[in-house]
Amino acid sequence: MATDCWQRQITYARLSLTETCNFACPYCRPNPIAGSCLRAPKLSANDWMILAEALHLLGIKALRLTGGEPTLYPHLKDLVQSLTASHWFEDISMTTNGSTLKEGASDFYAWGINRLNISLDAVTETAFTQATGRKGQLANVICGIEEALKQPFSIIKINTVLSHYPTDQEVNQLLSYIEKWPVIWRFIEYMPLSTSKIKGPNFTEWTSQLERLTGGSLRPVKQIYGHGPASYYRLTNGTTIGFIFPMSHSYCSHCNRIRFTADGNLKLCLLHNEEIDLRTAIQSGASPQTIANRIQIALLQRHESHQEASNIRSDRPMWRIGG
Ligand code: SAM
Ligand code: SF4
Repeated sequence: MATDCWQRQITYARLSLTETCNFACPYCRPNPIAGSCLRAPKLSANDWMILAEALHLLGIKALRLTGGEPTLYPHLKDLVQSLTASHWFEDISMTTNGSTLKEGASDFYAWGINRLNISLDAVTETAFTQATGRKGQLANVICGIEEALKQPFSIIKINTVLSHYPTDQEVNQLLSYIEKWPVIWRFIEYMPLSTSKIKGPNFTEWTSQLERLTGGSLRPVKQIYGHGPASYYRLTNGTTIGFIFPMSHSYCSHCNRIRFTADGNLKLCLLHNEEIDLRTAIQSGASPQTIANRIQIALLQRHESHQEASNIRSDRPMWRIGG
């Protein structure tokens, strides 16, 4: 089992497959290139499989595919099918903006993705356009989520980043979808990686607004869904929702994850700049065991906790890390 210098066990890895993205969410890609941000992949499916074998040798049990938009990675089918056939991981999940699910959900399930996280920040046209920087995509994403719900994924989570103060009307509309869909809905605090201009509600403001609009207190639930740091609460109607507030409620003491960027760097912490290049070794024929040894040595450089919001100077915006 891989362990870092603070005795935290690392059981979960996030692979950012591509920097290509067809959305331009201002909190993630603040200075978007016009149109889709198309980038040639730096790692082939075979390169990712060498890294995956190294992660398996280190005892990592769960992988999440992310991006950019991972469903636009051109070798996704090959990679997911190879990961599934390897039987190295108990859990292969993916985070997507939902734009390709209408056509792709059944394939993603058939190839071996067992869980999905889908980003959906708003359910009204205006707010959705603002949140994603793309007009006319809301209906496509909603159809995509409904298509995904028809597949036997073990769980579907919806991620909503709180990047503005939503009106009561917007929250009521979100609540109607939360009641309607059999998903776990999670609200995520905005992390100021690229700009400090964006502001959303803090934990107290957000839970107070939800309690006021649902007419009762949120009750904490012990259950944990997946490998993430969310805390779960029950609404008055019995629906469970999750909160991830990494800036105001640090999860560092039990951080179980490492990240790999689309250019093949190991990132030890979302909110620290240190990165270790593994692509050069992978593409020069290093064995999975050699890569695993490099990762284990790098884990000895991990920080105990992330930086305070006011000190974050990230060299990478979120779309180049993968969340
Ligand atoms: N494109 C996919 C998507 O949007 O789901 C996957 C990549 S995206 C970088 C992964 C997750 O990071 C999404 O849930 C997104 O909302 C979240 N995210 C991006 N920027 C963020 C920020 N500054 N603070 C908090 N979450 C952020
Ligand atoms: Fe693209 Fe996802 Fe970032 Fe939005 S959050 S810009 S969809 S990578």
